[in-house]
Amino acid sequence: MLNILLVGSGGREHAMAWKIKQSAKVNQLYIAPGNAGTADLGENIAVGVSDFEGLKKVVLEKAIDLVVVGPEVPLVEGLHDYFLADEQLSQVRVVGPQKTGALLEGSKDFAKKFMARHNIPTAKYTTVTPETLEEGIAFLKEMKAPYVLKADGLAAGKGVLIIEQLEEAEASLKTMLDGQFGAASSKVVIEEFLSGVELSVFAITDGKDYQILPEAKDYKRIGEGDTGLNTGGMGAISPVPFADAAFMKKVEDQVIKPTVEGLQKDQIPYNGFIFFGLINCDGNPYVIEYNVRMGDPETEAVMLRIKSDFVDLLEAAANGTMAEQSIEFDERNAVTVMLVSGGYPGSYENGKVMSGFGDVNDSILFHAGTKQAENDVVTAGGRVIAVSSYGNSMKEALAQSYANAEKIDFEGKYYRKDLGFDL
Ligand code: AMP
Repeated sequence: MLNILLVGSGGREHAMAWKIKQSAKVNQLYIAPGNAGTADLGENIAVGVSDFEGLKKVVLEKAIDLVVVGPEVPLVEGLHDYFLADEQLSQVRVVGPQKTGALLEGSKDFAKKFMARHNIPTAKYTTVTPETLEEGIAFLKEMKAPYVLKADGLAAGKGVLIIEQLEEAEASLKTMLDGQFGAASSKVVIEEFLSGVELSVFAITDGKDYQILPEAKDYKRIGEGDTGLNTGGMGAISPVPFADAAFMKKVEDQVIKPTVEGLQKDQIPYNGFIFFGLINCDGNPYVIEYNVRMGDPETEAVMLRIKSDFVDLLEAAANGTMAEQSIEFDERNAVTVMLVSGGYPGSYENGKVMSGFGDVNDSILFHAGTKQAENDVVTAGGRVIAVSSYGNSMKEALAQSYANAEKIDFEGKYYRKDLGFDL
């Protein structure tokens, strides 16, 4: 029996907590800092995800065996390394890569070099620094529109610009290098634009062997028909119809296997999730990005489709026993629809009283930005709550989520009603 500490506070962590709690192997589950939803599944502890000392205290006080890290920031900051370096924490296992592995997400330049070294299909690119600006501009001139500019470091999902005009791309390159995204854009990756449909594929690995989790497709734009500003994600569906066995075999052979083998060749230890942000170009997968954790909101659909004991997979990733694992999927469709605050992804108000939870049936609610305030649950973020459902088809699952999305109420509620429109 394990005491588990889950680090994070989003819908992703609520969904992971929900799946973890289904395992008979869990003694106690703690979530730091958690949200109003995770409080129903375990004990929330008010420690932030980057407060390593605070997390250490929790681990010692609560006799934690396994730490599962939800978001990327503490991984890129070296949470796993911090635990390994501390004698008092030597028995504690961490799911989430060390700093070196986290660079796959923490530096786009590192990720591109890694892919080039291991022959993993991805867009052509060059990396520019203030010293090599002229080369960068020359590279832009060789490319066709639209131009893709990416801040090298973490920029809370905002560091990618896609620009139609060459002159504007040149100007943006300069602005980025001048610190538009702070230190994150002191290097900029310029990439060839790839055209196709995107999907998210996830693996859990101990650095040697891996299991592939159900794939998903998320919807990033605020507006219907994929219009308007980018968001953290307005919903997701799983499975992805075009990701049939033949396509997924290409993904495994050309992307997943060479990535895990590449980590080994480069002697990068890796215990945790790898999220492959892929684009399907004429039936072939190309890597748009790596993330070193699960996606949000994809997790709020993917967890529904894992039949196996999730804690077994987490333990195997941490202990190096993934070769002994297998994974079974739920064959049903799963979807999640994100309800967001009016005005998001621009400015919005928090503290709106939420109602209707009791009327929801046959959907699972994963809290993202919510807070318990006296007797009410109130909104506390742009993305508020994910309504996840099963169905025998994507349409059926979506209809279920939409019926329940109607029943939950808060002032300014908005959600996209067209998920799956492009499939
Ligand atoms: P990233 O943060 O790297 O995932 O980029 C954010 C989004 O920009 C992706 O989800 C894609 O929609 C888009 N994008 C990034 N790179 C490319 C590319 N090379 N070609 C086309 N679209 C891209």
